[in-house]
Amino acid sequence: MRADERAQFDPDEQRAIREDYARGSQPICPRCSVPMTERPIGGGSFGLGYARRREWLICPKCRRSALFDLKRGTRN
Ligand SMILES: [Zn+2]
Repeated sequence: MRADERAQFDPDEQRAIREDYARGSQPICPRCSVPMTERPIGGGSFGLGYARRREWLICPKCRRSALFDLKRGTRN
């Protein structure tokens, strides 16, 4: 596994992005200060239940990505 093939944000940066997203504002890449591309990941091949949703945020500039698990409060 080579770290430079898939660059990641630091944990602090991921938290900042997640907090931006949780507030409903457009997440900004903390390194490039550009809006990040949002890519919802549904269930299907990932085998995730409907109660769980994943968001994949990608910076179009540095290509770093952050994958978030968004847990909803709803239950059956
Ligand atoms: Zn960036």
